[in-house]
Amino acid sequence: MKSHNTESGNSKMKKEKEVASMNKNESTRPSDFIREIIDEDLRTNKYGGRVHTRFPPEPNGYLHVGHAKSICLNYGIALQYGGLFNLRFDDTNPSKEEIEYVKSIIEDIRWLGADWDDRLFYASDYFEQLYDYAVQLIKKGKAYVDDQSADEIRETRGTLTEPGKESPYRNRSVEENLDLFGRMRAGEFGDGSRVLRAKIDMASGNLNMRDPVMYRILKATHHRTGDKWCIYPMYDFAHGQSDSIEGITHSICTLEFEDHRPLYDWYLNELGIHHPQQIEFARLNLSCTIMSKRKLLQLVEEGHVNGWDDPRMPTISGLRRRGYTPESIRTFCDRIGVAKRDSVVDIALLEHCLREDLNKRTQRVMAVLRPLRVVIDNYPEDQTEELEAVNNPEDPSTGTRKVPFSRVLYVERDDFREDPPKKFFRLAPGREVRLKHAYIIKCESIVKDEKTGEVVELHCTYDPQTKSGGAKAARKVKGTLHWVSASHALEAEVRLYDHLFVKANPEDVEEGSDFKANLNPNSLETLASCWIEPNLTGAKSGDRYQFLRLGYFCVDPDSSNGKLVFNRTVSLYDTWAKIEKAQRKR
Ligand code: ATP
Ligand code: MG
Repeated sequence: MKSHNTESGNSKMKKEKEVASMNKNESTRPSDFIREIIDEDLRTNKYGGRVHTRFPPEPNGYLHVGHAKSICLNYGIALQYGGLFNLRFDDTNPSKEEIEYVKSIIEDIRWLGADWDDRLFYASDYFEQLYDYAVQLIKKGKAYVDDQSADEIRETRGTLTEPGKESPYRNRSVEENLDLFGRMRAGEFGDGSRVLRAKIDMASGNLNMRDPVMYRILKATHHRTGDKWCIYPMYDFAHGQSDSIEGITHSICTLEFEDHRPLYDWYLNELGIHHPQQIEFARLNLSCTIMSKRKLLQLVEEGHVNGWDDPRMPTISGLRRRGYTPESIRTFCDRIGVAKRDSVVDIALLEHCLREDLNKRTQRVMAVLRPLRVVIDNYPEDQTEELEAVNNPEDPSTGTRKVPFSRVLYVERDDFREDPPKKFFRLAPGREVRLKHAYIIKCESIVKDEKTGEVVELHCTYDPQTKSGGAKAARKVKGTLHWVSASHALEAEVRLYDHLFVKANPEDVEEGSDFKANLNPNSLETLASCWIEPNLTGAKSGDRYQFLRLGYFCVDPDSSNGKLVFNRTVSLYDTWAKIEKAQRKR
């Protein structure tokens, strides 16, 4: 079945390796309805054994995790079948598109790990060819210039139950249509004064087939073709023909295009050119998230978030800044699979895939986010000890490092209670805990702020016989806390995140309100003065760690030489694992 590979052995091996890393679940993943269609097309030799897919973003915003699903699907299929994958910008709408978006899209797809080799295309590269196709349809009597306004065209389109009305210009001669279309291109007419329409069927049950507009006049500067064109093709007229020009075999898109498929097919049939198979699948929806570029743009423009790459955004650049790995996003896309029906995926699954990956790859370090000072009264004033700490118990090859211990430490404020409830196994007056990688300490007394009554310092003693890993370390206590040495630790800012929306479905709002009513006012919490073990000196933007007991964190680009800034990527608490466990029990 997969023997239609004509590549040399070497590059074949490279491809196979890529397949393994991009789609590591390939061999175990059950087939889906898209792959079944492709298998059948290969069996019947429909496209001469070729498989060629593409990802066709419109450069009018940043990519989000829904796009990642489409990229993983299209690229994954090309790899699996030894085929090709194109990146094509659907840049037919000059007023909305920007170069910034083109750049970000390229960066994001690369980062995800998809590779289009030298096949980066733009629909705008095909404007001349698309114009010729339109002329061909005019010559066949299948397209005409309509002088009606956009409003008139909309009003005469009919409804689902009533047929549309034919335009009074519908039966213009081929010569007149050719002349007028040429003059539209030459800029003789004003914006919106005329359009070119396909001559199909104003009574069709499918509204897309009621003489759809192919070209409109728009005197706007295009980011690639400048002012060369003042007529621009509509999406439906550009998309299928662009697929055809590139030799795409399977044009995979989301369900909202299902009703457009008859038109996609009509244009290609009438033109008699290479005819890719359009296949629709359900778009990804995630709980507590919105996935529309238009709405994401609103969040950016109205300042609800700090830009497209705000770590709370579901954009690829936001997820990257938050600390997501490309591997975790690809695993997620693999696990959700493809379906024919719309559904909402629990965001906990995305976070679960992330934790699984970070658990394997991140170094464990100690950081204290809300510091409480601890003085070890029986520890010598000027002494520092270097204690051995395991880097990652999941990966022994990462070895150990030294962590400094001294008389004054910080522990987490939450790890102390003056009046501890039952089962509180952390610090309290008279209680003992183990300090990770270090000693057992006992809380002897506390110091309070005279005015506020707040506990500001603990006085403890340590038991020198209980050093971790030491011969006599066998004595056991229930709680183990993380800590840092006050005089050695680095001060850092830490940003904690929660979901951007408070409701699983952000669109669930009262009449007259919109999705922004569901924005979570506590989605960002900034802790300005945290303390990190000194081994993180020199950590670079994008570096990822597990802070023991606190979660996974990554260094934010806002960091400067003076001060590190961390984003909490995700906490350690895995709600998805709980859900799965409960399901297994049932
Ligand atoms: P949006 O609705 O967010 O503006 P879009 O569909 O207009 O998205 P495009 O740039 O046209 O964005 O999308 C490029 C490709 O990504 C299309 O093939 C589209 O079907 C696919 N895609 C977009 N959103 C999703 C999603 N949520 N899940 C899966 N695929 C998606
Ligand atoms: Mg679109």
